[in-house]
Amino acid sequence: MAELKIAGIVDGSTLDYAGKVAAVIYLCGCPYRCPWCQNPELVEQGEICKTVDVDYIISALKDDFLISAACVTGGEPLMQKTCLELLKAIKKETGLLLKLDTNGYYPEMLADALPCVDRLSLDIKAPLGEEYAAAAGLGDKYPEAIVRIKKSLETIKKWGGVSEARTTVVPGITDRKEVIESIARTVDEYGFPLYTLQQFRPMNTLDPAYMKKKSPSHALMLELGRAAKNILPEKTVKIFTQLKGFEKISSDA
Ligand code: SF4
Repeated sequence: MAELKIAGIVDGSTLDYAGKVAAVIYLCGCPYRCPWCQNPELVEQGEICKTVDVDYIISALKDDFLISAACVTGGEPLMQKTCLELLKAIKKETGLLLKLDTNGYYPEMLADALPCVDRLSLDIKAPLGEEYAAAAGLGDKYPEAIVRIKKSLETIKKWGGVSEARTTVVPGITDRKEVIESIARTVDEYGFPLYTLQQFRPMNTLDPAYMKKKSPSHALMLELGRAAKNILPEKTVKIFTQLKGFEKISSDA
């Protein structure tokens, strides 16, 4: 029986699968060390992480009558090879819509996962260059990550399923117009129909220094959303803030 390390299953989310009530399964482990990460216990595989078998997760999903979707997230879910067995089992045994969140570091796993999923979200942490070193806490290992992410982007482009690119707007890393414009050009190049900017929150961060940083204001999020929309006039651009939740950016905003 395939086993996985998970931090838990959260029920009844209305934020993780557009228009659906979803269960969210948090898988432990991540190859990145984004200093602003708000899931340090998952990344460092602390006590919160428990080993369960795939059947345990499938039973929990089957017993949940309120959900119509499942979202497999992390950490980085594709870091665990048995994630593929989980995705296949969810699709085959539950009939739920299935979304996968990934940071793109495992392109071969991603290629195997895509046939199982209905939606995919890819985190693009920064422009695809040396900015990734700081944004993902990779230091001088960032070039390998860029190669891997580009492979994942090519795979997603060929896939043609419902895909979304996401960037967290983090103070000092991605809170400038030029940075978001650069990422938006990548989003355009690889054909994502949806780009979402998420607001960083200074809570429970991997690097405690980020607890002292301020959340980007709603006004700044709107400004950055508009900058992205200018690069992506035919695509859907959204921002997500604590104040107003999801907001769609219109071309004339
Ligand atoms: S924010 Fe970064 S370190 Fe945290 S789980 Fe996501 S990719 Fe990993």
